Amino acid sequence: MDRGKFIRVKCSNCKNEQVIFGKCATEAKCLVCGAVLAAPAGGKANVKAKVLEVL
Ligand SMILES: [Zn+2]
Repeated sequence: MDRGKFIRVKCSNCKNEQVIFGKCATEAKCLVCGAVLAAPAGGKANVKAKVLEVL
């Protein structure tokens, strides 16, 4: 998967849908519950939430 794009993810904790950058340098957190949706891992994002769509 191309991680250099925005992706729409669904928080596995609270089901909130949120758009994050697929190549994040910092942790992307759910705006609702604060769960980590994606964490930086060697220059690419380790996406922990369910990916719904690549934008
Ligand atoms: Zn959440």
